[in-house]
Amino acid sequence: MCRHTAWLGQPRTLAGLLLEQPSGLLQQSWAPRRQAHGTVNADGWGTAWWSAARAEPARWRSPGPVWSDASLASVAPHVSAGCVLAAVRDATTGMPADETACAPFVRGRWALSHNGVVDRAVLPARAWPAAESVCDSAVLAAWLLAAPEEIGPRVRDVAAADPGARLNVLAADGSRLVATAWGDTLSVLRTAEGVVVASEPHDDDPRWEDVPDRSLVEVDAAGVRVSPLG
Ligand code: GLN
Repeated sequence: MCRHTAWLGQPRTLAGLLLEQPSGLLQQSWAPRRQAHGTVNADGWGTAWWSAARAEPARWRSPGPVWSDASLASVAPHVSAGCVLAAVRDATTGMPADETACAPFVRGRWALSHNGVVDRAVLPARAWPAAESVCDSAVLAAWLLAAPEEIGPRVRDVAAADPGARLNVLAADGSRLVATAWGDTLSVLRTAEGVVVASEPHDDDPRWEDVPDRSLVEVDAAGVRVSPLG
């Protein structure tokens, strides 16, 4: 099971969000606090962020452990964005090990990460041509980002077709976040500067809220909405 996190709010650095929190994504790559499946997340990492330059996000991925990426540590303090999505990966057995299998997956202005596992056979054949990898998460991303407004219902339908699936997804388009809790942990932190949606709290701030399993989380300029998916 991988870990992911996203930010929507005032511009902040990638370093501040991902590398400098006491239990942030960097620490979660070797010592996650709430991960129920798998141990370390050393099979790659990736991040997407949005700027005024274009609608599509910038994306940076690597198949190695995030803790060994000296270039990320050097660049991350210099990159600021008001919308950021990032993930560290613990590859599912049998899935490819290259960069194209690492989240986030991108389609147009959207990017998406998946914590979990899904039987690719239950995903519609028409999702495959747009998939960036044969990795289950990439095919799932292609299916969900073909209709971003339907991420919640599509996750529910995939879960019905594969009851063993774990389907925590986290998507963003630069001005909103959409996440599901389906089989793994998910938390939300609301501050005056913005909102974090993450697999697990990146610090011990008492304002972190646990999202109930089988929920949809939507974050935009109007605020945070959590609704049941089940
Ligand atoms: N199934 C995905 C992969 O192989 C995600 C794995 C995970 O959540 N650990 O990359």
